Amino acid sequence: MTEDGYTVDFKRLSHSFVDCAKIENPGIGIHLDTKLLTIAKVGDRYIVKTNKGEFSAPVVAITAGGHSLMIAKSLGYGLDLSVLSMAGSFYTSPKVLNGKVYTIQMAKLPFAAIHGDPEVHNENVTRFGPTAKPIFQLERFNMATFTEYWKTFGFGLSPILSLFNIIFDKVLLVYVFKNFLYDLPYIGKRLFIKEIRMIVPTIKLSELKFVRGLGGTRPQIVNNTTRKLEMGEAKLSGDNIIFNITPSPGASTCLGNAYTDTAKIMEFLGGKFSFNKEAFEKDLIK
Ligand SMILES: Cc1cc2nc3c(=O)[nH]c(=O)nc-3n(C[C@H](O)[C@H](O)[C@H](O)COP(=O)(O)OP(=O)(O)OC[C@H]3O[C@@H](n4cnc5c(N)ncnc54)[C@H](O)[C@@H]3O)c2cc1C
Repeated sequence: MTEDGYTVDFKRLSHSFVDCAKIENPGIGIHLDTKLLTIAKVGDRYIVKTNKGEFSAPVVAITAGGHSLMIAKSLGYGLDLSVLSMAGSFYTSPKVLNGKVYTIQMAKLPFAAIHGDPEVHNENVTRFGPTAKPIFQLERFNMATFTEYWKTFGFGLSPILSLFNIIFDKVLLVYVFKNFLYDLPYIGKRLFIKEIRMIVPTIKLSELKFVRGLGGTRPQIVNNTTRKLEMGEAKLSGDNIIFNITPSPGASTCLGNAYTDTAKIMEFLGGKFSFNKEAFEKDLIK
């Protein structure tokens, strides 16, 4: 923690939300390890079929990363959108930073600029990244999401034309090529250190380690009407349903999203419930 902000362990934060919600409402249902299979609107309710049974609800918020767009498409939303799944990897070094330090964001790129920060559970390790390269999976290290990726991307000519238009932009092409190299053994570390030296000029090659198996993907929206990559947050709102695809800049905006989504959900529920905005702001806004 510094005067300018906090390091947040989002896993612990969500556990604490669940604990508090259970105190407020002991009957609340929390179904982990439950996969949404299909969703359909029947009358004024959504019927959600999962691998562990069926649920029915008047209002639904889908917050499943890139999968949210696939689910939105199954309901007829976002049909002119595709997704570019940008996988990020990280390097680590012994402790060289006390807090998060960002390099300057390139205006044309919708991906997070390279930054360094202390590992949330071990401040003696500093993490640098992410690198960014497109992969054809909705989830990193999960080959089962290859088919789902293409289902979300779309099979027509339009998404392919958009992809070509995006990828042949000189700035993006150079960026993607450089980022492919950053993930390679031997050469990757030697190239990536130049980026890290913008943050820590004295860092040595021997201090850097590529972290295998760490990282995720950022689903970035491709608009097939404008044939452009969309910057920032990706969210769709429909008939009593919200689809959160990409928070921007990332997890740090989750409470801001919760705030706007809760207000929207109250609107969907037509005044049957109320949102205590003052209590939320008192607890969570400085
Ligand atoms: C190493 C690393 C470091 C990061 N550091 C930061 C940071 O310092 N600051 C920051 O702001 N952000 C950071 N991020 C980004 C941040 O993690 C993401 O922006 C954030 O996790 C996105 O949250 P989400 O809930 O939208 O999606 P996700 O975290 O992707 O969660 C989506 C969930 O939906 C589930 N799901 C998908 N399909 C279905 C289905 N059919 N049924 C049920 N569930 C489904 C998935 O299994 C997944 O659990 C980091 C990411 C990585 C990988």
